Amino acid sequence: MPDTRDFHMTPAQFRNYGKQVVDWIADYYERVESLPVLSKVRPGEVRQALPHEPPRSGEDFSQLLGDIDRLILPGVTHWQSPKFHAFFPANASGPAILGDLLSSALGVQGMLWATSPACTELETHVLDWLVGMLGLPGKFLSSSAGGGVIHDTASSATLCAMLTARERATQFAANRQGPGGNLAAYTSTQAHSSVEKAAMIAGIGLDNLRLIETDGNYAMNAEALAAAVEQDVREGRLPFFVMGTVGTTSSNAMDPLPEIAEICRRHGLWFHVDAAMSGTAALCPEFRRFQQGVELADSYCFNPHKWMFTNFDCDCFFVADRAALIKTLSILPEYLKNQATESGAVFDYRDWQIPLGRRFRSLKLWFVIRHYGVEGLQYHVRQHVAMAQSFADWVRRDGRFEVVAPAPLNLVCFRFRGSDDDNQKLMDRLNQSGDLYLTHTKLSGCIVLRFCVGQTNTEMRHVEFAWQRIQEEASRLQAETK
Ligand code: PLP
Repeated sequence: MPDTRDFHMTPAQFRNYGKQVVDWIADYYERVESLPVLSKVRPGEVRQALPHEPPRSGEDFSQLLGDIDRLILPGVTHWQSPKFHAFFPANASGPAILGDLLSSALGVQGMLWATSPACTELETHVLDWLVGMLGLPGKFLSSSAGGGVIHDTASSATLCAMLTARERATQFAANRQGPGGNLAAYTSTQAHSSVEKAAMIAGIGLDNLRLIETDGNYAMNAEALAAAVEQDVREGRLPFFVMGTVGTTSSNAMDPLPEIAEICRRHGLWFHVDAAMSGTAALCPEFRRFQQGVELADSYCFNPHKWMFTNFDCDCFFVADRAALIKTLSILPEYLKNQATESGAVFDYRDWQIPLGRRFRSLKLWFVIRHYGVEGLQYHVRQHVAMAQSFADWVRRDGRFEVVAPAPLNLVCFRFRGSDDDNQKLMDRLNQSGDLYLTHTKLSGCIVLRFCVGQTNTEMRHVEFAWQRIQEEASRLQAETK
């Protein structure tokens, strides 16, 4: 007798369980603000609760969903809680989740135009929309010599920018011969660590990545950049790449893009702009002043998965010269050859990124943009900025605290006027309470608390509550140290 058993989930079962999952998600969003924001589990606790062996026979779906509540949720830090003020946000929204679900359902692998034309063409189209929505230069449009592509993260985008810059500077010899040892790259001491990783992976070497000093506002000192480049030239090295940041991770500092661009132009360097979180602010014309100079950049990236209501992962990477990017990353094994590619009339996005395979990420972005409309996105970004600015005002008015860096958008760096230990204690107690979650950084050698407003559902009452809790814990700390 042939074995005719079937273990698959039927469409009818899927319909039933799928509805349960969607209900679970809606319930989760309704109750997430009542859950402790930072997970309280100890290392190993989640694994300990899991069965040692996988199940021999399939289990009932209701058990799976029950285990999400029982085993998984206690080990989740609730990034989607409106009381999440840590790091930079990784926000999500209904339309993004549904778009992502459809992407999972279609299960498309869009490495080539031919492997699913809609996957490529929707991506091109939505990224062209974003050029207009963010006031980015026309050279990033697909109708010019450039174009945009969705990457998983800003780290990947920066790596691809650096690789392309490396190839351009070596007349595409480094890919064949290795990068040699005399290339030099530049960014500020405040740039995200992903540029260091890029320098490691691209074979540039950390010793050849110059971390340029910053000014009193933690923005790159352009004169120091010029001096470093000139010194390298004098010493026979080959400067090739500069990364400027719109909104640094530590303090949301804005590098002087026009000055940096001028140095790049003078020395023929590739200029990459990392606007991972703060790029979203450019949806609002009044915040575009921070990216002034981006029209002079060779490449640019920002993460809708940080602040633009699009669940992780989604980084938009734009280049002015797509031919250089494609020449850097293109490999064409026999099995991928096809007529569409050979016609030259299509984009094959596998040539614009590190991996071969790619998900249909533009669906969630498309859903977000269509659900909110430009107006809706602008409204919520403005709300976030206004709430953060109110928070900064309250901090300034309480003599026990100080705001320690400019707060141009939705991040406030502040300090309890006490020791580093006091600040650490204050933060630890707040986070352990589960009432909110904020993180720290070091600025000018001191521990500083960072309060970011960017979670999709954060309202003024959450920010007021956070400030009340911060004040309460500060009073308690003061009473203890008296
Ligand atoms: N650049 C900046 C300014 C960031 O703040 C971050 C992360 O917070 C990154 C890059 C890295 O982002 P990703 O996780 O997308 O690589």
